[in-house]
Amino acid sequence: MIAVQGYDGARVAVLGLGRSGLAAARALRAGGAEPLVWDDSAEARATAEAEGFAAHDLTRAGAFSGVASLIVSPGIPHLYPQPHKVIAAAWAAGVPVDNDIGLFFRSVATHDWDDYDVAPKVIAVTGSNGKSTTAALIHHILTHVGRDSQLAGNIGRGVLDIDPPGDGGVVVLELSSYQTELARAMTPDVAVFTNLSPDHLDRHGGLGGYFAAKRRLFAEGGPDRAIIGVDEAEGQFLANQMSEGNGDDRLIRISAGQKLDGPGWSVFVRKGFLAEHRKGRQVGAIDLRGIPGLPGAHNHQNACAAYAAVRTLGIAPRVIEAAFHSFQGLPHRSQMVAERDGVRFVNDSKATNPDSAAKALAAFSNIRWICGGLEKEGGLAALMPHLGQVRKAYVIGREARGFALHLGDLPLEICETMAQAVAQAAAEAEPGDTVLLAPAAASFDQYDNFERRGEDFMDQVAKLT
Ligand code: ADP
Repeated sequence: MIAVQGYDGARVAVLGLGRSGLAAARALRAGGAEPLVWDDSAEARATAEAEGFAAHDLTRAGAFSGVASLIVSPGIPHLYPQPHKVIAAAWAAGVPVDNDIGLFFRSVATHDWDDYDVAPKVIAVTGSNGKSTTAALIHHILTHVGRDSQLAGNIGRGVLDIDPPGDGGVVVLELSSYQTELARAMTPDVAVFTNLSPDHLDRHGGLGGYFAAKRRLFAEGGPDRAIIGVDEAEGQFLANQMSEGNGDDRLIRISAGQKLDGPGWSVFVRKGFLAEHRKGRQVGAIDLRGIPGLPGAHNHQNACAAYAAVRTLGIAPRVIEAAFHSFQGLPHRSQMVAERDGVRFVNDSKATNPDSAAKALAAFSNIRWICGGLEKEGGLAALMPHLGQVRKAYVIGREARGFALHLGDLPLEICETMAQAVAQAAAEAEPGDTVLLAPAAASFDQYDNFERRGEDFMDQVAKLT
């Protein structure tokens, strides 16, 4: 655990007692603070009380008197669509609002580091899609070369749950826009921005707010190295803002399609080959085709980001290549689940928005596409150019009929349930087809989360085989 520094003897309120909130309360206590915990759910409060934390009703008038700071969980809206009433009360009382990420960056460096030969590094990954995969891949490469690496944030453990990094240790963080928008301190050594496409617009008041939230990772502390995907205008803009000019080694531009062979430092993929260019020369190349854990152009983008991140730590291209080959991928992201009579079944339940679903659709051919669920703001327009390989759609979700209306003249069937969709798709599939779950929608109309939806898909596939 990282003991929180700077609040010794202070009363610190913690709102939201899920994984990150409880970890924050423990880390505050370890640092000598007095956590005052609250959650709208009585069950969550009981769990915290069982650990000896004092529940403190933050919704009461005067609840913030004598409180030094309020720590908020990422699931709780702090601004849009409207601020949670406890957060608004903290503002009114003049109490600073922060989150576990802010506490982490204030607390991770300690005096012990003065005695280390190699100071620990923090690599933070943000972007709309590919954060988890990129963070996991960076962690995998570091582990492969024997570096002491810990994976935390949105993936793995809560940031304050990790062990204090040792000599030469690396912490790899996956950070969502909710987290980067609120954190009061963010000083990674290496910051990675994968890409940008519309998502979570309700929580950020639109695309501009969403981009601004992600940009803070680069603006607040000024990372030593910035790795930026430049396949969208926002990434190009951010890269340009971060760079002092062509000789600036602090910036690595990455792309999943464009040749970036100008004078700066860049990593890009063309036709399945990754290339690293520096000062006008190619200094590394890897054939990504056929690497089982990294299928499709979207994963090639993630490979560029991870490659660039570990290159800043001096890891050699050949070593990175070997590590790519042993990467297993993550569950629910283009995950090959089964193969039966020449038909592949792929679980990409994590494709919760049209952009990530489009990437999954581009990675396979002859697709029997299971889609649908709770539609995201912004509609399905981004998907339409990517339906060329879809033989038929099998639409699930409570609003399956409404979803299907957006799919134009694509052959489709309304299935509503996963069981029906898998059975129907399997019955109609021919050798060479891929039955792909890539819903392009959130899961909450039928499931607790995307993991449950992916597990249901896998259970239904297992019943066939
Ligand atoms: P995140 O953590 O940003 O949500 P994940 O690695 O969990 O990213 O992947 C989320 C979804 O996006 C999955 O459906 C995955 O197949 C798809 N995806 C992964 N990498 C990318 C990428 N670079 N661009 C677009 N989609 C991607």
